[in-house]
Amino acid sequence: MNHAQLTALGRALRLLGEHGEALTADTPDTRLHEVRADLRRALDLLEESVTAAAPATRCAEHPNGPVDESAPDLCLLCETRRRAARRNEFNGGPLPHAPAESAPSRYGVRGDRPQPQQRWLPELWNGQEWQLCGTPRRDRREAELYLAAQRRGPRAAMAYRLVHEFTDYEVLRVWGTPVKVDIEPLGNL
Ligand SMILES: [Zn+2]
Repeated sequence: MNHAQLTALGRALRLLGEHGEALTADTPDTRLHEVRADLRRALDLLEESVTAAAPATRCAEHPNGPVDESAPDLCLLCETRRRAARRNEFNGGPLPHAPAESAPSRYGVRGDRPQPQQRWLPELWNGQEWQLCGTPRRDRREAELYLAAQRRGPRAAMAYRLVHEFTDYEVLRVWGTPVKVDIEPLGNL
């Protein structure tokens, strides 16, 4: 916001304050129309003054990241991470009675598939495109230290970047009621 914008916006906002002070049950409609016009003018000035995009989420880490309306901070990335943590908690521990290989299925069970995980990929700009320049790390700090070391190297690339990779499974809907049951011994199987 430059000085002229600041002055104009300040004046417009103070005027609105005065309208508020003067407002009574007897305020005539003509006056209300004036208030509306002044309010619009203030809003226009404000829109001209704001340069950066409004943050989409309330998350300090991902202010312009994807939005999840149901998340307290509106951050889809963090909410996905929290859901994964909650799910791990909920699913925690083996079933008390089920033998390890009790659910033979050609599709396997959830535990056979990869768990939600996140990795940080160090990448460099090779002059044409971004390419992986080191082992993906499980730890963000470690990846950052690695990239910092690369940048200080004798043959450092023009640019580096750190990419956050996140894989997750989300249960969308459940049919029926999953109850833990004791499994009968399967004879000769
Ligand atoms: Zn976030």
